[in-house]
Amino acid sequence: MLATTGIYHRLITHKSYQAPVWVKWVGSVVAASAGQMGPSWWKAHHLAHHLHTDQVLDSHSPHTAPRGVGGFLWSHGIWLLSRRCFPTRLPSDVENDRVLRMIDRLHFIPLIALGAISYGIGGLEYLGAFFLSTTLLFHGVQTVNSLAHIFGAQPFATDDQSRNNSLVALLTLGEGWHNLHHAFQASSRQGITIRDGQVVYLPDPTFRFVKLMEFFGLASKLRVPAETDLLARAKHQEPAYVSSSL
Ligand SMILES: [Zn+2]
Ligand SMILES: [Zn+2]
Repeated sequence: MLATTGIYHRLITHKSYQAPVWVKWVGSVVAASAGQMGPSWWKAHHLAHHLHTDQVLDSHSPHTAPRGVGGFLWSHGIWLLSRRCFPTRLPSDVENDRVLRMIDRLHFIPLIALGAISYGIGGLEYLGAFFLSTTLLFHGVQTVNSLAHIFGAQPFATDDQSRNNSLVALLTLGEGWHNLHHAFQASSRQGITIRDGQVVYLPDPTFRFVKLMEFFGLASKLRVPAETDLLARAKHQEPAYVSSSL
């Protein structure tokens, strides 16, 4: 999960911090071993999601046809079984890195290797654990596309249905603070909201992971929005209680 959130998403896709290229390579192999496909595929779909959020060209929005439960199921995984699974354009920066491009094309090898290693260490029991953990992780990641575009708060003004959803944040190590992410895509910290006109920081294990990498010299130039920018983007909220002057 950390490789998906911290490397595929916040590093390779959004460049919310800088890291040595080998961190991208290792992180991509780990993310691919979790069945998250390759870095070019992942970034291509995710950039399209940000460019066309909840519009027709968004591959996995719960708000384009079909609606309702069908929309939830579509965004949660059915889209992967359609031709929308194949991106029309791959990101040039990832494609220009020979190693990342190779990992992208051979993304299934780390996945198969992890299954084989699991079987080699602990037989069918470990192979079962491999399938279970991979399946749980898949659904965890998919909740960002489904639940975090349906249920939750919208403390920031965006042109989409992105939400801050604490359950999704719990499952995905901080990626569920998705409304903040759509408002500030380049922020390495996603656990941020606005309460009573104040900036409030929320649990964000992926950001802690990036800070830990920074401590060991593996991450730098972390991008985090200034509080003035956060407040400027905050949605106008009606006060919960207005005292009577009578
Ligand atoms: Zn989104
Ligand atoms: Zn994103």
